[in-house]
Amino acid sequence: MDIFDSASALEIKQTAMALTNHFKNQPKQTQLQSAEVCNECGSDIPKARQDAVKGCQFCTHCQALADKGKR
Ligand SMILES: [Zn+2]
Repeated sequence: MDIFDSASALEIKQTAMALTNHFKNQPKQTQLQSAEVCNECGSDIPKARQDAVKGCQFCTHCQALADKGKR
């Protein structure tokens, strides 16, 4: 390995570390708090759904409508 190879290897390492730190500071989807009631219609969101879909804000019905609207 010559000096240029080791320099670029170091650069790759530093870039990887910077990216790792960057993503460490991002809130993860799994850490989001699920809503207990739907933000749209106010229906209770079942606990099972809150656990299954971390950070969900809508009941299954409104979520389906929202998903449809996006497409
Ligand atoms: Zn709803």
